[in-house]
Amino acid sequence: MRPPPSDTQKQSVLGNTGRNADLVTELTRARQQVQSLEERARQAHLAYLRETVLHEQSVETFPLAFAIWNRLGRLVRWNGAFRRLVAYEAQELAGRDLPGLIHSEDQPVFGDAIARAFDRGEQMQIQVRLEAKNGERIPIDCRLRAARVAREEYVFLAAEDIRQSLSTENDLRRAKERLDLALSASSLALWDWDLGSDTVYFNEGWAALLGAPLREATFSGDEVYALCHPDDQERYDRAVSAALQGARATFECEYRTQKMNGEWMWVASRGKVTQRKDNGDPKRLTGTSADITARKEAEERADFLATRDALTGLPNRLLLLDRLEQGVSNAARKRTGIGVLLVDLDNFKTINDSLGHDIGDDLLCQVGQRLAPCLRVTDTLARLGGDEFAVVLENLDIDGQRGTQHVAEKILHAMAAPFQVHGHQLNSSCSIGISLFPADGRDANALMRAADVAMYDAKKHGRNTYKFFAQEMNARAHERLAIESYLRSALARDELRLYFQPRVGFARNDLLGVEALLRWQHPQRGLIGPDKFIGVAEDSGLIVPIGEWVLTRACQQVRAWQRDLGELKVSVNVSVGQIADGERLFSAVTRALDDSGLAPDALELELTESLLMMQVDEKVTLLNRLGKLGVSVAIDDFGTGYSSLSYLKRLPVDALKIDKSFVKDVEVDMHDTAIVRAILALAHSLKLNAVAEGVETARQHAALRSMGCDEFQGYFASPPLPAHEFEERYFARC
Ligand code: C2E
Ligand code: MG
Ligand code: MG
Repeated sequence: MRPPPSDTQKQSVLGNTGRNADLVTELTRARQQVQSLEERARQAHLAYLRETVLHEQSVETFPLAFAIWNRLGRLVRWNGAFRRLVAYEAQELAGRDLPGLIHSEDQPVFGDAIARAFDRGEQMQIQVRLEAKNGERIPIDCRLRAARVAREEYVFLAAEDIRQSLSTENDLRRAKERLDLALSASSLALWDWDLGSDTVYFNEGWAALLGAPLREATFSGDEVYALCHPDDQERYDRAVSAALQGARATFECEYRTQKMNGEWMWVASRGKVTQRKDNGDPKRLTGTSADITARKEAEERADFLATRDALTGLPNRLLLLDRLEQGVSNAARKRTGIGVLLVDLDNFKTINDSLGHDIGDDLLCQVGQRLAPCLRVTDTLARLGGDEFAVVLENLDIDGQRGTQHVAEKILHAMAAPFQVHGHQLNSSCSIGISLFPADGRDANALMRAADVAMYDAKKHGRNTYKFFAQEMNARAHERLAIESYLRSALARDELRLYFQPRVGFARNDLLGVEALLRWQHPQRGLIGPDKFIGVAEDSGLIVPIGEWVLTRACQQVRAWQRDLGELKVSVNVSVGQIADGERLFSAVTRALDDSGLAPDALELELTESLLMMQVDEKVTLLNRLGKLGVSVAIDDFGTGYSSLSYLKRLPVDALKIDKSFVKDVEVDMHDTAIVRAILALAHSLKLNAVAEGVETARQHAALRSMGCDEFQGYFASPPLPAHEFEERYFARC
């Protein structure tokens, strides 16, 4: 500012008026210029102030922590976010050494980043921990930039507090670790299929399952598919598609996959679509897989056991039916025939009951071995249980008869040679029932039923033969079935009856005893003879309780008659099924005697030759025990068993009953005469009683009497009689 003009100056100016006017103008202009300059300076200053405030405010309101420090490391600027982060007052921060605010462990990284920011002029990004005033360490993600401003170098820092995200990350990592731990403990593998990028991520669990080094792995969907066993790929594919298309809520599949060592491993995978696009298309499929090889092997083993016969290792009924069912549908399609053969051993029960189960079992195994070579590899041989085998022949011509007949004959031939079992030579023929598809049945069960019916027919026709199913056989089979089911309740309903046939002495024609013979008073069918149901009772095991009932009733009845008739013996027939359990038979006998009060020497048990023939030692013991009691033993139907006679010497037997087939023509057929004579000689040389069965005529009677036979039974004296008729006839005489 210039000082105002003095009076002399004013005078001189006024003294020179023209020049003064110019000066005034000049001055005015200069003043105006000064004023304009001053105004611009003020405006510039205002703009500067505004800029500075705006700048400071924006830095202050910047959400990130912001700080500037100079090359010496002194803080020159910072914002509120930064101050709050480190929790220092503003005056405490001014000129503070910034690296000192960094946690000592992170200082090398931090220093290095700054150096690089200066050297390369790049923006650096690192994670370090700030050390707050209260000692808390605050993880930050910071960006560092170096800049030269007015010949001074500065470092600019913008940092983000990452405590929150780190803890989320930590939580996630911990959660994953826990999950991995749980998965590894449960030997589960985790997988996650991103369908967009077609990447399947597998965790370490998967590598462990495959036997690969422990690491996570990724595959494409196709690679996973390719690892799948070729036989399982279709199933796997179907399960994946069903889950992706939403047809099923979950993906579930058990399949085989190859391990690193080349072995196949069974895997159970379960998962579900965990993300879908807005249009519903699947985005990711996530789930777990577990090694189920051990379970599968156990299942396969159980499956094998469930479909195999434990004794012979052959397919069992279940598997046979399954194959037959399959065969029927194939045959229907290809228009071919099927043959079903049921092969039943003829005398197995006797062998098993008398020689014991070990021998029976061995025989069955040998039979299986003999049958197998009679078949082609495509045929099925099964053991249905007991002594029953079955064969299914496939791919026959539509008639099927010739092919089946050929195999049936081969089987009969193969069975013809004796079996060597534990030192025993056993003859075991078989009866074969045959049914054909499509003629005899359209499904497995119908074919099996038809073959069964045919098999019983084969048995009836003398055994050791085969029979094709024929419609008329059905009626007979039905009868058999009906008998079995009714027989079960016959005992309970008191439908069994005993008939008594007199045993007469030749010498004085006197009544010596009676044979108790079983009848069944059927409510609808009337009186049924034993030949119609004893076989069924034996097959079903019912013979044991029935036999015990006979013993009890026979002893009671005869004991009652003894009061009027004096001495009277009673013979009771005993069958294979009863003698198999010697102990039970023995106690049944003693109970029957005790309960009735009959003297043991009044009781005789009739056993057939075939029964006694086997396991003689055991029989000897049992019969000796009975003998000691006083009970006698007779051999029934003697002469029909074709057995060695040597056992007769060893067994404690009291009587031989000559079978009625020799008696029938004894007086006319010289062969029969010879046989009867031989039997009588044998009996007498062994001091046994000889009883002729089925004596019907006076001539037979006379012939036998002249030959020296001791006793007889037969219509000539009397048919078997119900108790009251017996009483009427014999009580009247005494
Ligand atoms: P079995 O022990 O040889 O009995 C003799 C069979 O010859 C009886 O047949 C009898 O009725 C019959 N019979 C008697 N006299 C004559 C005759 O003059 N001519 C002809 N042709 N036959 C005559 P049944 O009663 O039908 O018994 C048949 C078989 O059933 C018996 O033969 C026996 O093996 C068995 N059986 C009968 N009752 C029982 C029983 O309680 N238990 C067991 N296990 N089997 C029995
Ligand atoms: Mg008898
Ligand atoms: Mg007899």
